[in-house]
Amino acid sequence: MALRDLFELKGRAALITGGARGIGKACAAALAEMGADVALLDIHKENLATAVADMEALGVRAVSSLCDVTVASEVEEAFAKAVETFGRLDILVNSAGITIWAKGEEMTEEQWDRVIDLDLKGTFLCCQQAARIMIPQQSGSIINIASMSGQIVNIPQCQVAYNAAKAGVMQLTKSLAVEWAPHNIRVNSLSPGYTATEMTMTVPEYHAGWEVLIPMRRMARTDELLGAVVYLASDASTYTTGHDLVIDGAYTCL
Ligand code: NDP
Repeated sequence: MALRDLFELKGRAALITGGARGIGKACAAALAEMGADVALLDIHKENLATAVADMEALGVRAVSSLCDVTVASEVEEAFAKAVETFGRLDILVNSAGITIWAKGEEMTEEQWDRVIDLDLKGTFLCCQQAARIMIPQQSGSIINIASMSGQIVNIPQCQVAYNAAKAGVMQLTKSLAVEWAPHNIRVNSLSPGYTATEMTMTVPEYHAGWEVLIPMRRMARTDELLGAVVYLASDASTYTTGHDLVIDGAYTCL
């Protein structure tokens, strides 16, 4: 097969959580551009509707589910809808996630639970649903959006729950990669550094302090993550599993 054809995703079906905006939406558009049909899961109804229209404009089929990934029954329903629509599921991108900034000694139990529930449990619940579809297929690629925060501690903001959750996502990824390798299901994580999305653009007063710590001296654009997403989703990476792909402008090298 020609190298170029290894990246082809025509005929594949992808599900993207947090797909209504930010990194999730950018990943969905990249997979759609390479030919995949896409199912978008999110809690934001209006953004979801816009995102579906944007995906359809790329010439693929797109469906959406209003789904809170921390609720197992909603996740199950949303995955069932995707399979009913597309007949299969080849790619899962887990991008839904939040951070809450609070000093460790002041963080409330509710804040801790909210971050761990969404970033770690939500990722697991979606991986689990994907595997229940992909094991009978004996194929699939799962991409968990972790973070460089899974291996370094960001400053000056305090985000212990987020850092712990993302480290958890990285180890969850490795564990499931080993468990599901015999089923030809690959599980990888992608760890961005600071990336310009709504999550980070709402705190412009922090940017200069962050950028001085990044060897490339700037934050990433979402489009700088997409080659990696297509690589991990496609047949270009059939022997890559259990890997954490860091895209951080060399932040974690220091
Ligand atoms: P955004 O906040 O821009 O997008 C996250 C999306 O997820 C939003 O549409 C949000 O909806 C949705 N969402 C929130 N809660 C839930 C839920 N319970 N169930 C389903 N969907 C939900 O974030 P980013 O695009 O910046 O981040 C995406 C992922 O990338 C996250 O996992 C994040 O931790 C990770 N990441 C981001 C970095 C960055 O610098 N931006 C760096 C490293 C990792 P709503 O708009 O209603 O909240």
